[in-house]
Amino acid sequence: MGRTNVRVVARARPTSSFASDVFKFNEAADSIDMRLPKDESAGLVNNQQETWHFKLDKVLSNGSQEQIFEICAADVVRSVMDGYNGTILAYGQTGAGKTHTMSGGHMGFADRGIVPRAISAIYAEAAARPENNITIKLSYVEIYNELMFDLLTDVGVAEQSGDLSIVEDSRGNIQVRGLTTPVGGTEEEALHIFFQGDTNRHVAEHALNKGSTRSHVVFTIYVESRSRVESSEKVIFSKLHLVDLAGSERLKKTGSDGVMLKEATFINKSLTFLEQVVVALGSKHRDHIPYRQSKLTHILKDSLGGNCKTTMVANIWPEAKMVEETASTLRFATRMMKV
Ligand code: ADP
Ligand code: MG
Repeated sequence: MGRTNVRVVARARPTSSFASDVFKFNEAADSIDMRLPKDESAGLVNNQQETWHFKLDKVLSNGSQEQIFEICAADVVRSVMDGYNGTILAYGQTGAGKTHTMSGGHMGFADRGIVPRAISAIYAEAAARPENNITIKLSYVEIYNELMFDLLTDVGVAEQSGDLSIVEDSRGNIQVRGLTTPVGGTEEEALHIFFQGDTNRHVAEHALNKGSTRSHVVFTIYVESRSRVESSEKVIFSKLHLVDLAGSERLKKTGSDGVMLKEATFINKSLTFLEQVVVALGSKHRDHIPYRQSKLTHILKDSLGGNCKTTMVANIWPEAKMVEETASTLRFATRMMKV
């Protein structure tokens, strides 16, 4: 196939200030049309593009958590159970709904995001395969300023765990050395591990004064499936990465101190490298895919392209003042498709 297996789904968050003169969602055609707001007070300057048209694999202007899971993740989960690696990423500006999409909200069971739903789906699939002996492990890593932190160890030591490193075996399998990968004996245990990691993320944020919007987090579900083939045992390893990316918003020239500038530089670089890797995967020249340029792409190396299923959710915030950021998000998203 001439393109990578990246499916791109645009998801708009709900807002009371929806700008219907600016954003037109066409769900039947899976496209989005945008135009600059007439109102000059939105702070826009001349010489800018005034209209945009974006075609995606799927557009959801008002999708439920369940729909998002079905569209973005259900078949990725199934192929992980069949032994292939998979990756689901949420991309977009801060406030656009990435964490809501991946982790979910606080409105009960129906508000659960892709991660808890994927966990439940994996355990359900495992239970449906009693002939296989399946072990499920989990890890949760945060990448902040190109340092990696284990979100499943005590928050108190999160600060010191920045010395995790990525190792690669001769067959190209990627592992993060030093990262804990507890076994989830049951669905409940696995969910508990994930929610504990999310809590640790928020506690560490306050303790270290860093915003969740400035880091990437990667929750990984590892599936080890043993089956008997005649007299010998066959073992299949696969994994599913669920990624809540750092906010993609452009750094404002004014008002950023040294720390923010450093964070923004790392984020812009790693998102650019992610794009370069996906584009390179879809091109004819696959010998030099620049995975090692960032921790994010290096971690995902064995789970992008080839037989791996990848979905990217482009989260957008359809308010008038967000038009530039939305255009930037959808440009990024469509570049991931058009390779
Ligand atoms: P991000 O992680 O991209 O910065 P969040 O997921 O934190 O954005 O979303 C910002 C706010 O919008 C949160 O209060 C979240 O609950 C709300 N929100 C985002 N998407 C949705 C949605 N699809 N339905 C309901 N609320 C949403
Ligand atoms: Mg977030």
